[in-house]
Amino acid sequence: MIGSVLKKVFGSKNERELNKLRPIVEQINALERQVQGLSDDQLKAKTPAFREQIDQGATLDEILPEAFAVVREASVRALSMRHFDVQLIGGIALHQGKIAEMKTGEGKTLAATLPAYLNALTGQGVHVVTVNDYLATRDTEWMGVIYRFLGLTVGTIVHGLDDRQRQDAYNADITYGTNNEFGFDYLRDNMKFSPESMVQREPYYAIVDEVDSILIDEARTPLIISGPVEHSSDQLYEEMRPKVIKLKQHQDRFLREIFDGALEKLEREGEEEAALELLLKVQRGDPKNARLLDLIAKQPALKKKLERLEGQLSTQKLLPQIDQALFCVIEENHNIAELTEKGLRLIYGGHADDYIVPDLDEALEKIEADDELTTMEKKVRRQKAEAVHREASERFHVTRQLIKAYWLFNKDVQYVVKDGQVVIVDEFTGRMMPGRRWSDGLHQAVEAKEGVKVAEENQTLATVTFQNYFRMYEKLAGMTGTADTEAAEFKKIYDLDVIVIPTNEAMIRVDHSDVIYKTETEKFQAVVEEIRELHKKGQPTLVGTISVDKSEKLSGMLSKAKIKHEVLNAKHHEREAEIVAQAGQRGLVTISTNMAGRGTDIVLGEGVKELGGLHIIGTERHESRRVDNQLRGRAGRQGDEGSSRFYLSLEDDLLRIFGGERMSSIMERLGMEEGEPIAHGMISKAIENAQRKVEAHNFEIRKQLLEYDDVMNKQREVIYKQRRQALSGESLRPTIEEMMQECCQSIAHTFADENVPPEEWDVKGLRDAVYRQFLFRLRIDRNTMDELTGDRLAELIFESAMKVYEEKEMDFGADQFRGVERMVVLQVVDNLWKEHLLAMDHLKEGIGLRGYGQQNPLVVYKREGFDMFMEMIERIKEEAIRFLFRIQVVRPEEMAAKEKARQEKISYSHGGDGVKAPVRRKEKKVGRNAPCPCGSGKKYKKCCGK
Ligand code: ADP
Ligand code: MG
Repeated sequence: MIGSVLKKVFGSKNERELNKLRPIVEQINALERQVQGLSDDQLKAKTPAFREQIDQGATLDEILPEAFAVVREASVRALSMRHFDVQLIGGIALHQGKIAEMKTGEGKTLAATLPAYLNALTGQGVHVVTVNDYLATRDTEWMGVIYRFLGLTVGTIVHGLDDRQRQDAYNADITYGTNNEFGFDYLRDNMKFSPESMVQREPYYAIVDEVDSILIDEARTPLIISGPVEHSSDQLYEEMRPKVIKLKQHQDRFLREIFDGALEKLEREGEEEAALELLLKVQRGDPKNARLLDLIAKQPALKKKLERLEGQLSTQKLLPQIDQALFCVIEENHNIAELTEKGLRLIYGGHADDYIVPDLDEALEKIEADDELTTMEKKVRRQKAEAVHREASERFHVTRQLIKAYWLFNKDVQYVVKDGQVVIVDEFTGRMMPGRRWSDGLHQAVEAKEGVKVAEENQTLATVTFQNYFRMYEKLAGMTGTADTEAAEFKKIYDLDVIVIPTNEAMIRVDHSDVIYKTETEKFQAVVEEIRELHKKGQPTLVGTISVDKSEKLSGMLSKAKIKHEVLNAKHHEREAEIVAQAGQRGLVTISTNMAGRGTDIVLGEGVKELGGLHIIGTERHESRRVDNQLRGRAGRQGDEGSSRFYLSLEDDLLRIFGGERMSSIMERLGMEEGEPIAHGMISKAIENAQRKVEAHNFEIRKQLLEYDDVMNKQREVIYKQRRQALSGESLRPTIEEMMQECCQSIAHTFADENVPPEEWDVKGLRDAVYRQFLFRLRIDRNTMDELTGDRLAELIFESAMKVYEEKEMDFGADQFRGVERMVVLQVVDNLWKEHLLAMDHLKEGIGLRGYGQQNPLVVYKREGFDMFMEMIERIKEEAIRFLFRIQVVRPEEMAAKEKARQEKISYSHGGDGVKAPVRRKEKKVGRNAPCPCGSGKKYKKCCGK
């Protein structure tokens, strides 16, 4: 009852909205005579005339009536279709940035030409968004005739175009394309290295066709561009692995003896002291030693004693004496793993020089002090010393991670090996966490230990949800046959109003009540029977199923019953369109999933009208009423005859999961018997209620995705803005100087404590820090040092750094150096942003697992996400500067090569129907002769695999 009251209110509101538009329609109609009198050339000349008016300050609303009249006339002349009045209403609603609900077959494609033309007059580019490549191409060709007649250009964005072709299409006045392509182009543009290769203009106005499908059904999964994670030092892990194994064997043997000795001493009186010392040795050499842990479990007091002893020795600086007997030392809680002298000698033998990290400071000072060397020679030597240092450090790091992998990480405890991959096991929940990796090379170390091929891992490079992509447009509009049931969501998420446009001819389709069976088998049998009847009569039937599986099941049953039919499943849009277009022909039976052939026009064949038109059979209720309506809407277009009926069973998911008690009690009351169907209004009501519940639940999921993405969206805006600025062609030098200044300040303030006299500052630490950041040795005059303050020190570092920087600039030549700066900043931003995306992913996953008491996980996500973002911004500065001071020679070709190499490894994904969680897909190898995954229906080698 409340529903019907609401409907009245809503209905009258819709009526009021429509009434507002009717006078404009009158105006357009009144102009018809006049435009009919124009010659083709005069009609064409209207386009520049409108543009002139806009230049003079006319608003689009002001020229709308005449512009619409012109488009309608052009359509009559070029396509022999005259826009119906309801299409004019739809066109106005679209221009006003609303969602026009126009039933299937009402001619939305044609209606969209009106606002597309009008808004394109501004020169800003109108996007018409379709659900697949086939429709984008069809509509460009079909409607392009009108636009070209009026002197506008049209372009199409489909899969497989190169940047040039995309630019041409985007520079056209009106561009048709799919949601995926528009979204990916946005992401790709923001990964480019030169402004010339960007393809999109500023988003201005988009008309989204089948808007419910795009903004609601597909909105549950974001668009993701991913590429392989780069591993640079794999070889080093392989090289060091056997050495670490040897180390472990020696250490294990040694500790076994020590442990035996400790046990003996423990048993004797008065030797506990000595025993403890031995046990400490075992602990420091192998914190997870099984025998030691066992012993401690039995004698818990030992733990305290060991801790106390370690503390004591540490303060007395005597720990090295304990350690020197070992090959390596592991301090688990400090995350330390170090080789001792003994260990170094064991694994490096005579080549220890290669492995010991040289003191760079010393080496550099020696080079500086050598008067025999010219400046040039010094430079070369310096670079060489640095390279040696880098390599040794890397090797050292790898060794350390391998030690941790062997000593601290146990298979089937911290990780498992599954399908040739090392999968982390969450220590709190015990759950496997596929896709997660330990950082800083540890994961690679464990992979090397297990001898699994280091995974070609994919990681997110860029991602956006459709919600956030489409919200960027200055104006957004949509059209579909089924928007009304989702009006609340459109309003809330996109701020889009839905307006229901009346049909051109009255709807005469007969919608029968649902029939419901006890089992699915009975249901399908009944469906086959009904099809057989209609088929005999010659009336065409379109059967909708909920999945490809069900389509195939039904198809099998029909084949058995010797009923000829066609099956489609939303994989090959073009062929499907051809088949669906035929579905209204006499005697045909077509089985299709909900999505298949959407957007295709079904025209009734000869004599079909007399048979009752197209009959629609639904074989299951979908989760959402909207999708059911979509299926029904395939019949009864433009006032055609038609009918529909849904067949259900108690075994259907929707009824099983959401129907609940109520459904059973209704069935009971109506007295359902085996093999006998029930058709009753109460059931339809109950089902509708179940659907409402699921709809609300799905809305919640989409809203949540959006809430989480909103956090990222703000960050994405900041980063993409920085990138665009870097690409804009302006010199980055001022920005870089600012970054340098900030780096200098942060170093200075770390080492210059205002409360400590300058003579006592950690000068070595300071110079090291400067070196790490700027790769030069800071000179500090000891004589004037006591006058220094933190700020003065920062200036001093900055001045010296600027000198080095300017030298570098001279080496490269100023012009080229500007390019270098640009490239470095872009790369650093991209790299850190990529890492950040991964970290945010992990944060999102992890947040659900943490116990937060009263806190809302979204709030925690926002706060921690913000902190991580600010940290990243800091790191961008530091790393960009660090890179710039290290860069040697860069040729412009390198930039291009780099971008190319990267693009070749990239993959794109957007989860298909029914995928609920954000997913990251791995690139799967596609056979050359297999159907192309893009859905074109061509072989892979003939399509994307070319
Ligand atoms: P929708 O997208 O609303 O389902 P389409 O744009 O596919 O509908 O159009 C359905 C059919 O109606 C097409 O065959 C089209 O040619 C026809 N049509 C649309 N508008 C008109 C018109 N004003 N006059 C004549 N035929 C029209
Ligand atoms: Mg359409």
